[in-house]
Amino acid sequence: MSSTRVLVLNSGSSSVKYQLLDMRDSSRLAAGLVERIGEETSRLKHTPHGGEAREWTGSVPDHEAALKAVATELAKDGLGLDSPELAAIGHRVVHGGLRFTEPTVVDDAVLAEIERLVPVAPLHNPANLTGIRTAQALRPDLPQVAVFDTAFHTTMPESAARYAIDVETADAHRVRRYGFHGTSHAYVSRATAKLLGRAPEDVNVIVLHLGNGASASAVRGGRCVDTSMGLTPLEGLVMGTRSGDMDPAVIFHLMRVGGMSADEIDTLLNNRSGLIGLCGDNDMREIRRRIDEGDERARLAFDIYIHRLKKYIGAYYAVLGRVDAVAFTAGVGENSAPVREAAVAGLEQLGLAVDDGLNAVRGDEPRLISPADARVAVAVVPTDEEMEIATQTYALVGKDG
Ligand code: AMP
Repeated sequence: MSSTRVLVLNSGSSSVKYQLLDMRDSSRLAAGLVERIGEETSRLKHTPHGGEAREWTGSVPDHEAALKAVATELAKDGLGLDSPELAAIGHRVVHGGLRFTEPTVVDDAVLAEIERLVPVAPLHNPANLTGIRTAQALRPDLPQVAVFDTAFHTTMPESAARYAIDVETADAHRVRRYGFHGTSHAYVSRATAKLLGRAPEDVNVIVLHLGNGASASAVRGGRCVDTSMGLTPLEGLVMGTRSGDMDPAVIFHLMRVGGMSADEIDTLLNNRSGLIGLCGDNDMREIRRRIDEGDERARLAFDIYIHRLKKYIGAYYAVLGRVDAVAFTAGVGENSAPVREAAVAGLEQLGLAVDDGLNAVRGDEPRLISPADARVAVAVVPTDEEMEIATQTYALVGKDG
């Protein structure tokens, strides 16, 4: 029997998201989520393909228990992790530093390097490591593949990747711009080229990944040349709960004048800023509803969000010189027609416009929303990070399956 299945695991500090895919035909066999790991009220939601979702609430003390619970659910559908059809487990790993430019089969040296990167990704890499170790314990014979969020951005030139600070200090502490959401930017830029009927090598794309976290990237001929997130995911666009760009002196000011600690400011900028800090909501649906009711704070939050987004479109237009497409993706980018409309409003001189009728259409497929005669294509391209992780994992290990 050939092994064509890949389990994709996205392990967070208190959650595990998973999908089981069959790479023979890129079909999804099951998907699910374990949340609130370590609490009394952990929740598992498991959806077999084409079947009813099953939910379960109880205590899941740690990641090992979470993965065992996932294995039990999969087994109920005849998709157990002990199946010889499982070719590999693909793991989302947030920070791969400069070393990991490609998906990588995990061994002890790879685990040690991911561990070494914990200081630059203190929230994410430890959880990713726990996920890998737990999966290894469950299926020690199976290849575990790490797919890094930073990898797609390692092609950025030094001029885009370096901060203009003292080089020795920066290098001593590995301070540079790494970028994140790389799996999504890679997938969406390729899918956009496909939508245009062109090869990725021939197409320049600005990808706008607008979810609760948000980032933009400039992709020239399939290679990332700039992206908006930096050393951490805090830099760049206004996000659901993160500030994005600001004068770094705000931090010293809050320390010296506001009496806040580094940890307090970290929490402020990562969790209590962005849309939620500006208006108390981070869900774009809720913000739009409030705007429709005349809420001024929601309006201002939206305007600040759009202003920043527009600045990045302009910046990446200049970086690329020639732009073939602007692609909107992730929760906000795929679903919010008002955000897409406002982001390109007034950019007709750059060849950018949306057709109101096309922009209003909802759907799961990649689609163009620019007028037929537009110089630059504007597209909605649903992202699929799990499929991309599975594809990369299978490409690495599946050949001899
Ligand atoms: P993500 O991080 O990609 O899952 O995106 C989550 C975000 O997408 C939510 O916080 C919402 O702001 C946004 N979102 C999801 N669905 C919609 C929708 N139908 N309309 C507008 N925004 C949406």
